[in-house]
Amino acid sequence: MADEKKPKRPRGKACLLEGKCIACGARCQSACPVNAVEMNEAGEPIIIAEKCIGCVKCVKVCPAQAIEMFFTPEEQKILDELMAQGGAAEEVDEEAGAIAAKLAAYRGVWVFIEQTEGEPAKVSWELLGKGLELAEALQVPLSALVIGEKVEPLCHEAFNYGADRAYLVDAPVFRDYRTQPYLKAVVGLVEKYKPEVILMGATGMGRDLAGAVATVLKTGLTADCTGLAIDDKRNLMQTRPAFGGNIMATIMCDKFRPQMATVRPHVMAMPEKSAGRSGEIVLESCQIREEDILAKVIEIISDKKGKEHVDIAGAEFIVSGGRGMMGKENFAMLQELADELGGVVGASRSAVDAGWMPGDRQVGQTGKTVRPKIYIACGISGAIQHLVGMQDSDVVIAINRDKEAPIFQVATYGIVGDIFQVVPALTRRLKELKQQKGRG
Ligand SMILES: Cc1cc2nc3c(=O)[nH]c(=O)nc-3n(C[C@H](O)[C@H](O)[C@H](O)COP(=O)(O)OP(=O)(O)OC[C@H]3O[C@@H](n4cnc5c(N)ncnc54)[C@H](O)[C@@H]3O)c2cc1C
Ligand code: SF4
Ligand code: SF4
Repeated sequence: MADEKKPKRPRGKACLLEGKCIACGARCQSACPVNAVEMNEAGEPIIIAEKCIGCVKCVKVCPAQAIEMFFTPEEQKILDELMAQGGAAEEVDEEAGAIAAKLAAYRGVWVFIEQTEGEPAKVSWELLGKGLELAEALQVPLSALVIGEKVEPLCHEAFNYGADRAYLVDAPVFRDYRTQPYLKAVVGLVEKYKPEVILMGATGMGRDLAGAVATVLKTGLTADCTGLAIDDKRNLMQTRPAFGGNIMATIMCDKFRPQMATVRPHVMAMPEKSAGRSGEIVLESCQIREEDILAKVIEIISDKKGKEHVDIAGAEFIVSGGRGMMGKENFAMLQELADELGGVVGASRSAVDAGWMPGDRQVGQTGKTVRPKIYIACGISGAIQHLVGMQDSDVVIAINRDKEAPIFQVATYGIVGDIFQVVPALTRRLKELKQQKGRG
C-alpha cells in the first residue's frame, strides 16, 4: 500500500543577503536559540549552516530584511509540492504547539512575602491585593511564598489579605535574607509547583531576589511595574514607564513562565483585611547548609531614622513644592500648610536638584511613589516622571499660574493662581476653621 503520509515541510537554513545588513547590534545573534550566529568585526552575522535548525527567528527580528531562508533544490521541490496540495497551510506550527504546552503546565499566582526579622514589608500585602485580582481573572488560586525563621504567623496574615494558600519554608538558615539560600528555596518551589505569575516588592530585597530567580529560571522579569492585568491569552500585561518615563510600555512575557514582576511600595492599593480568613499552609523544606552559604550576616544596622526623618511614602497628606517655589526659604510656607493638615512636605525633582529639599522628599519616577489622601502640588508643572509617583493619590489639588500646566490633567481640583497668594490663604482658612471648631 502506498504511503500517503505527506513529506515533512523542510525548514531550510538562514542565509545573509549581501550588502543588506545594517549592523543593528546583533539582534539576529540574540534571537538564535542554537548559537548558530556569530558576528564579524563589522557587526554583521556569520551564520553557521551546520548548526542552523531553520527556526526563522533571525529572519523575523532583522530590521533590515537582511536574512532569508535558503532551500536546496530538493527541499524547494518538496515545498512546491506541499504548496500545490495546500499542505503548507494545514501544517501544524510545531514550535507554537510546544510553547503552548509548556505554558499550560504553569498555573497560579504567587506573591513573595518579604520580611525582615519577622516584620513583614507592607508592599507584600499590597501585592496580595493586586494578586487576587489577577488570580480571579485567571481563575486560579492566590498563594503566598513565606520564607524565614519562625514566620508561620505571616502565612495567616497573608490569608487575611486574600491568599488561599501559603508555601512556607521555615528554618534557621533563612533567618536573615541572603541571595543564595532564598534563591535556592524559591527556584526549588517554582520548579515543583510551576506558578504562572510571581510578584515581588521592588525593594532592595525584592529587586535582588527577583533578578536572581528570573536569571536561573531563564524567564522574563519586569521591574517597577505601575500596572498589572491579564490579557485574553492568560498573559500578564506588565505596564511601566519607559524611555525616561516619556511613554508607558506594556511588556509581555508570552513564551516563558513564570511571568515575574516587581512593584514599588504604595503603587498598588492596600487591600481590605478580613481577619480570621483561613487557608492552606504547605510546609516545604530546602536543603542548604549554613557552611555552604558564602555571605554571612554579621550585624543588622537598622535604617530607621530619628525623629526628624519624614516618610513621605506613608504620609496621608502631602504638600509638594516644585521649581515654582523659587527658593529654599519659601518651603516654610508649605511646611505651615502641611502642619495644619497633619501632613508632610514633598518636592519635585527640580526642587531637589536645586538643593531646596533633601532627596528623600522627592516624589516621582526616581523618587518615592506616594498615595496620600490629599496631594497638593504647588508650582509643579506635572511632568510624566512626577505624575507616575503621585497620580494615584485619592485627591490631587494643583496650584499653578499656568492654566495649561499638565498637572491639571490629573488634578481633582485645580487652582490657577500664584502660589504665594493661594497657599497662605489656604493655611489661613484652615486655621480659621479649626478655631471655629474649637469654639463650637
Ligand atoms: C529619567 C528622569 C527621571 C525623572 N524623575 C523625576 C522624579 O522622580 N520626580 C520629578 O518630579 N521629576 C523627575 N524628573 C524631572 C521631570 O521631567 C521634570 O523636569 C520635573 O518634574 C519638573 O519639576 P517642576 O514641575 O518642579 O518644574 P517645572 O517643570 O519648571 O515647573 C514649574 C511650574 O511652576 C509653575 N509656577 C512658577 N511660578 C509659579 C507661581 N508663582 N505660582 C504658581 N505656579 C508657578 C510654572 O507655571 C510651572 O508649571 C525626571 C526626569 C527624567 C529624565
Ligand atoms: S534560522 Fe533560527 S537557528 Fe537558523 S540562524 Fe536563524 S535563528 Fe539561528
Ligand atoms: S539583525 Fe539584521 S541588521 Fe541586525 S545584525 Fe543581524 S543581519 Fe544585520
